[in-house]
Amino acid sequence: MAASARHCIFCKILRREVPASIVREDSSTLAFMDIRPMNPGHVLVIPKTHAAYVEDLPAEAVGPILEAAMEISRAMRASGIRCEAVSFYLANGAGAGQEVSHAHLHLIPRWRGDGFGLRVRPDYGRIADCTELDAFALKIRTALGRSPD
Ligand code: 5GP
Ligand code: ZN
Repeated sequence: MAASARHCIFCKILRREVPASIVREDSSTLAFMDIRPMNPGHVLVIPKTHAAYVEDLPAEAVGPILEAAMEISRAMRASGIRCEAVSFYLANGAGAGQEVSHAHLHLIPRWRGDGFGLRVRPDYGRIADCTELDAFALKIRTALGRSPD
């Protein structure tokens, strides 16, 4: 086993070396309660494969994360937990706030006025001009190695 997986807290939860309040498990994913909930009922869905970033996961490990999340999201709304809506949140890299280097999707129960939110830059709200958007699209398209359809 790679050292990164041996020391990873989420891999330890997968190996049942560290306790967690398990919500759901299938052959590719595990879902459990976040120990530091952003709102009560906050769940994490993780792939059973250790990888820091989503794009490092094998393709077949990615779909099941969202499939598990769909079921759990529906269940959260029906559970009696305060949950008008669910925020799906994924920090893909330390610069985006990722603290645990094992890809994970946060499912956070939400309601109007819950005080939870993403903080945005002070200049947020400016409508970008088309030239600027086209330039960014071109950079990403080039990195994708695809031509537009
Ligand atoms: P990140 O900031 O990486 O997107 O989120 C990591 C999340 O993992 C945090 O919300 C944190 O509370 C949660 N977490 C970290 N260590 C543990 C743990 O040992 N058990 C559980 N259940 N959650 C954890
Ligand atoms: Zn891991």
